Amino acid sequence: MTAQIIDGKAFSAKVREKVAAHVAKLKDEHGITPGLAVVLVGEDPASQVYVRSKGKQTVEAGMNSYEHKLDADTSEADLLSLIDQLNNDPDVHGILVQLPLPKHLDEDLVINSISPEKDVDGFHISNVGLLGTGQKSMVPCTPLGCLMMLREHHGSLSGMDAVVIGRSNIVGKPMAQLLLGDSCTVTIAHSRTKDLPGVVRRADIVVAAVGRPEMVPGDWIKEGATVIDVGINRIEAPEKGTNEDGSVKTRLVGDVEFASASERAGAITPVPGGVGPMTIACLLANTVTACCRANGVEEPE
Ligand code: NDP
Repeated sequence: MTAQIIDGKAFSAKVREKVAAHVAKLKDEHGITPGLAVVLVGEDPASQVYVRSKGKQTVEAGMNSYEHKLDADTSEADLLSLIDQLNNDPDVHGILVQLPLPKHLDEDLVINSISPEKDVDGFHISNVGLLGTGQKSMVPCTPLGCLMMLREHHGSLSGMDAVVIGRSNIVGKPMAQLLLGDSCTVTIAHSRTKDLPGVVRRADIVVAAVGRPEMVPGDWIKEGATVIDVGINRIEAPEKGTNEDGSVKTRLVGDVEFASASERAGAITPVPGGVGPMTIACLLANTVTACCRANGVEEPE
C-alpha cells in the first residue's frame, strides 16, 4: 500500500480562507476587527521565526496583529503587567505568549495570568480543565489542527484505536483528550512505555509528538493506519552539500520514518507540510472564536 498524503499546507489554506471570510463578515456586519497580541521575550531564533509568521498570517486574514517584543532580562512583574494591560484591552481578543520563556520566568504563572477567554493557545489551567471535562474551551492549536485533519480524512473517528506518543501539556495530553472526545479508544505512550512497537502496531490512528528524528519506523505501523506526525526535527543532510561557512546543510524530518511508514499507512502527514501549517491556521481560527465569544456574536463552526 502507498499511503495517501494528508496535505496540511493545502488544508490550512482552506482553513485560513474560512477565517478570512468570517473576519470580513465580523467587520461588515458588526464593525469588529479581531485582534491577536503576541508576546515574545528574548531572542530565540526559532521563536522569532514563529512570531513573524504568526503576525504575517494574522494580518493576511484581515485581523489586527499586535507584537510585543521584550528583552530577555524582562522581569516577571513587567511581563505580568503587560499581560494585565492586554487582558483589559477590548481590541485584543487573543493573547499568545511565545514559549519557551527565559529560565527566570515562571511559565505556569505567566500562562495562567492570561484571561482564559483570550488564551488562544489553550494552555490556561481553566481551558485545560474545560477540555478535560468536555466543555466549551480554547483548544490548543497543534492538537486541534491534527484533529481537524483526522476528521477531514475519516469523517467519524468513533471507536477507532488511537495511540498518542508523547504526553506533553502542549501536544500529547490535549491530543488524547480531543481523540477521547471524538470517541476513540486512546492510549498515551511516553518514554517509560513498555513495548512501544506493540502498542503502536494496534493503532488505527498514530499521533507522534516526541521530538526524536524518525524514531517510529514503518514496520511499527498497522496496515492502513492513519499517521499524524507532529515532530519537527532538523537533521544534517550531507547529500545537500555544505553552507558557505562549511557547515553541513540540514533538512527537517518528523518523528516517523516517512518513506517506510508510507508503504504501510493508509494516510500520513508529511514533514514539513503537514501539522506545522495547520497550527497557525488554528491559532487564527481560535482568535476569531475568542472575538465572537467576547462580542456575543455567532462563532464559526
Ligand atoms: P516534549 O519534549 O514536551 O514531549 C515529548 C514527549 O515524548 C514526552 O512526553 C516524552 O516522554 C516522549 N518521549 C521522549 N522519548 C520517547 C521515547 N523514546 N519513546 C516514547 N516517548 C518518548 O515535546 P512537545 O510535545 O512539545 O513536542 C513534540 C514534538 O512536536 C517536537 O518535535 C516539537 O518540535 C513538535 N511540535 C510541533 C508543532 C507543530 O506545529 N507542528 C507544535 C509543537 C510541537 P516523557 O514524558 O516520559 O519524558
